[in-house]
Amino acid sequence: MERAILQRLPKVVLHDHLDGGLRPATVLELAREQGYTGLPAADVEGLSRWFFQGDSATLVRYLQAFEQTLAVMQTADALARVAREAVLDLAADGAVYAELRFAPLLHLRRGLAPEEVLGAVLAGCAEGGRLAGIPAKVIVCAMRQNDDASEVAELAAAYAGRGVVGFDLAGPEAGFPASRHRAACRAAVAGGLHLTLHSGEGAGVESIADALGCGAERLGHGVRLVEDLTVRDGRVVGFGPVAAQVHARGIALEVCPSSNLHTGMYPTVEQHPVGLLHRAGFAVTLSPDNRLMSGTSMTDEFALVVEHHGFDIGDLRAVTLRAVEAAFCEAATRDEVRERVLAGYPAA
Ligand SMILES: [Zn+2]
Repeated sequence: MERAILQRLPKVVLHDHLDGGLRPATVLELAREQGYTGLPAADVEGLSRWFFQGDSATLVRYLQAFEQTLAVMQTADALARVAREAVLDLAADGAVYAELRFAPLLHLRRGLAPEEVLGAVLAGCAEGGRLAGIPAKVIVCAMRQNDDASEVAELAAAYAGRGVVGFDLAGPEAGFPASRHRAACRAAVAGGLHLTLHSGEGAGVESIADALGCGAERLGHGVRLVEDLTVRDGRVVGFGPVAAQVHARGIALEVCPSSNLHTGMYPTVEQHPVGLLHRAGFAVTLSPDNRLMSGTSMTDEFALVVEHHGFDIGDLRAVTLRAVEAAFCEAATRDEVRERVLAGYPAA
């Protein structure tokens, strides 16, 4: 399938980190404006190369990369700009709906209050959405390794119905179970937010079970669910209890293949379980995760599953319609987005 065709297809983005999707030119400009001198390169090409370490990426370098983007995302103007550009870039790549996520408490280094941080991102998203003509919503993340998740959930819930649609736990999964933050998850839901939790990326099935126990409606990644399946000759022949539950309930998996490959979860594209899970009837959706660090886009993710996992246009349509149904927006927005998706794919 030609790339131009893939690029034009309507896309629904459920999993995209604000601090992982900046334009390299914007990082440079913000650093200059703010007098930040710690960047590892002084031009767009050098900086792009540094952020995208290809297959040799290490976790340390990956985390250093977020340190660099966070360093220039500490003012209201910078946050609004980054959010606006993220929405514009996703829309230019075919997105007709996007949920952007970030952790507000990582942006307080220059004295902003948490409400100012969230307000700036919401304003940027709204402006980007207006300019691009697509709805753009925000998911607020707390970090698993920190003890402030309840504070974050309360902050997020105060903006329910005003652009914030969901709550998430990000950060290291192993050793920091979601259930440590059960009260925060409950508070978010009680405050009118939806719940998606990163799980089944940095830890296995037990972490997915834990996330479900906390009420997760979607799973960030979730691909290690495959460890709860019996696979023979490339086909699923048996479901463990967690996989069976996810399958039966149609819980959406926010699958980000390039990100998983970039962080070394699977040695080859072919070994990534995206195709297996999709064919077994799991609610696989596709997202870019960190466009800057993983050097990817929605079109790239589409191209990856077409090229390496045999997806055709009908599969991409199915994946996108699943994402529409799993989106955290209100019903009227969902109906509009569904119309745009249906109009952009050839009839099944
Ligand atoms: Zn993520």
